[in-house]
Amino acid sequence: MANVPGGAGARAAWRGVVQEYRSFLSLPADAPDVTLLEGGTPLVPAVRVGRGADLHFKIEGSNPTGSFKDRGMAVAVSAALQAGARFLVCASTGNTSASAAAYAARTGLPALLAVPAAGGGVAKGKLAQALAFGARLVLVDGNFDEALAAVRALAAARPDAALVNSVNPMRLEGQKTAAFEVCDQLGDAPDWLCIPVGNAGNVSAYWRGFCEYRRAGCATHLPRLLGAQAEGASPLVAGHEFERPETVATAIRIGKPANAHLARAAVAEAGGRFLAVSDADILRAYRALAREEGLFCEPASAASLAGMWAAQDAGLIREGQRVVCVLTGNGLKDPERAVAESDPALHAQPTAEEITACLPMELR
Ligand SMILES: *Cc1c(COP(=O)(O)O)cnc(C)c1O
Repeated sequence: MANVPGGAGARAAWRGVVQEYRSFLSLPADAPDVTLLEGGTPLVPAVRVGRGADLHFKIEGSNPTGSFKDRGMAVAVSAALQAGARFLVCASTGNTSASAAAYAARTGLPALLAVPAAGGGVAKGKLAQALAFGARLVLVDGNFDEALAAVRALAAARPDAALVNSVNPMRLEGQKTAAFEVCDQLGDAPDWLCIPVGNAGNVSAYWRGFCEYRRAGCATHLPRLLGAQAEGASPLVAGHEFERPETVATAIRIGKPANAHLARAAVAEAGGRFLAVSDADILRAYRALAREEGLFCEPASAASLAGMWAAQDAGLIREGQRVVCVLTGNGLKDPERAVAESDPALHAQPTAEEITACLPMELR
């Protein structure tokens, strides 16, 4: 359809989370509107993998840098500018640094990014983004939890630094807007929200969003929350910290979640649950999303679907219930994992015959 102003299908242009939801955000009135037009992401109904649930996917990989972190970064950087910060700093499993680097470039602030070099490190696409945006990328000889402790100490000693991890309350303010959108897109809150949990900021932000939207009369009820953790990095399920978290889902390879207290309270209030899913289950969901739904997310995001399946098996989520799984990040973030989980490419000479011979047997 032609994008003609006032034509069929014309709508007011999306303005980014700060302008769209300003009245809901606890952002100082004189904070500037920082935006890459984040938010406004699709809610896509499932066609094959719902197993009897009325399942929808919130496609957060459609944000400007390919993850939900952009919602929080827009608000955090806006507040940082208002407060007179001279640079941004964060620790990251990759997506926070990609997002911080983009908003830093946008506003002209320098960004200092500490990412773990240990344990397989960070997915390639995320490193490429941080470098392309011109940030200072520091590979830290340790895991995420150690990198976060270090940048928290740095920020405490430097009043001119804005720490943009999810311990910054403005990050959660921005991220809660995804819950508003889910309610707007469904017409009400779902029965369940399934979401991957790493540092535990996002699950807390969604809960805050649902509660505020209901209080404002924009939803009639609250959802239950299912927080999915990777088995090898599941402190909220096990009830103790993990010194050496390990999982293929690098975005949630976190052993000491900084927002554990908020997430525990949210899940308790919501009558929800934290569940651990194995790497094998995560990769099964990852493949199913791509091959059966046409949705390419990163492995951590697929933990939401793996978690929903596990909750169905446990009788928690029942037939016909309306469920939203949050697909937190884009599959292009981790191209090496995508290739490793797929059939290899075929080879042919540039002839019709040879290329035809590459069809599956029944179509040749
Ligand atoms: C950051 C991130 C998570 C985890 O979110 P938390 O707020 O740290 O719990 C999950 N998936 C992706 C893709 C992420 O980038």
